[in-house]
Amino acid sequence: MLSDPIVALATAPGRSALALVRLSGVGTFEIAAKVIEDFMSEPARTGRLAAFRAPAGDPIDRGLYFAYSSPNSFTGDDTVECTCHGGLVVPAQLVAAFQAAGARPALPGEFTRRALLNGKLDLLQAEAIGDLIDATATAQARTALHQLDGALSRRIGALRERLLDLLALLDYDVDFPEEDDGPIPRERIAAAMAALSADLAQLLATSPVGERLRQGALVVLAGRPNVGKSSLFNALLGTERALVTAEPGTTRDTIEAHVEFEGWPVRLADTAGLWDAPGQLDRLGVDVSRRYLGAADLVLVCVEAEGEVEPEDRELLKTRPALLIRTKTDRRKDGTTDGDGLHVSAVTGAGLDLLRRAIAGALFDSGKLADADLEPMLTRERHRQALTRAGSELDQARGMMGPAGEPVLVAHHVRQAALSLDELIGVVDVEEVLDRVFSRFCVGK
Ligand code: GDP
Repeated sequence: MLSDPIVALATAPGRSALALVRLSGVGTFEIAAKVIEDFMSEPARTGRLAAFRAPAGDPIDRGLYFAYSSPNSFTGDDTVECTCHGGLVVPAQLVAAFQAAGARPALPGEFTRRALLNGKLDLLQAEAIGDLIDATATAQARTALHQLDGALSRRIGALRERLLDLLALLDYDVDFPEEDDGPIPRERIAAAMAALSADLAQLLATSPVGERLRQGALVVLAGRPNVGKSSLFNALLGTERALVTAEPGTTRDTIEAHVEFEGWPVRLADTAGLWDAPGQLDRLGVDVSRRYLGAADLVLVCVEAEGEVEPEDRELLKTRPALLIRTKTDRRKDGTTDGDGLHVSAVTGAGLDLLRRAIAGALFDSGKLADADLEPMLTRERHRQALTRAGSELDQARGMMGPAGEPVLVAHHVRQAALSLDELIGVVDVEEVLDRVFSRFCVGK
């Protein structure tokens, strides 16, 4: 059933001071009354202290609960949220009590899915909730919040409205074909199409940075052995909050860490083995390194401050978005920093802040993005594909606008373009799209 009562722990399981258990759906208040002592659904949105008990009577905890009456809740259905003590036992007992009283465990993302189906938010906003929770850098959280606020939805909604206006003009043309040019000058329709096409393209152009922002930009350290890549990797992470993982399946792993440079999300990778003499090394390691270099949004080509820039280094600097890094500057006896590139020392930490700033600037145009009122951005492949589809439908429509053009066919393509945007916002019921989006959510969301 679409609105049967569901329950889940909304906070992360494990040791914590408090936990939040969420219950929502038709019949929520009856179920709550079997577990929460002296339960009252009114006044809504008011915290009350109460004892929580299993329906059989066993005490569980004392805590606060809030009742929300439909439609004024996150899901749009009647909802109760209980704050209890955290840890492994109490929250699980509370969830079990609500189940014993008639609720079923929620599926991943089911609360948000209901919110969407009840019109409390659209698909772009639902995705933004996931992004906000998954954010590891300030800029990601800010973009997600902006999207949750409806900024991207409004932008896409406005484009969709203009497509529908265009359709209305075209339908008019179909209904009154007897006049030579139709009652609406073709130039006017063509101009509206051209403007719309340009605005679609402008929004589409935000997707490289938007997707990079959501996923974290891949920055790969490269250079000859012993130039100081691993030391620089560690030094860059040193003061940063980092989660380090190793690319599996190789004896010489590529190490990857999620870090935040100046608020921007970066996946920093230390590749092993690319420049080592072949034969000494596991081929897999080289393959992994090459794959990383091929996918890199930015390569840090490392050479020693006192060393030469080798032909392989020059090649990388030419073929990839790259920064030249001069390492081990502390070793220079005269203390000079001549030679192009950014001069750093993993030992003294000199130049590291400058390097972080340079990386953020190169990847995100950070100065501009940070200052400006954040423009909505396309942050997912799903968004990019929908906009691309809409753009190509509109292009086809424009291609048919000549004197021999058939207004019915033109209208068909414009309608398809509008449908792509509908699917993006989730105004049409596209089960498959919903399944794909919500399968990645965690339970309790
Ligand atoms: P990789 O093979 O490129 O990863 O290089 P490593 O990070 O393993 O460093 C190679 C050697 O250079 C090690 O002995 C490091 O201690 C040394 N080294 C690395 N960075 C610096 C630095 O900034 N200053 C100095 N003086 N030595 C460094």
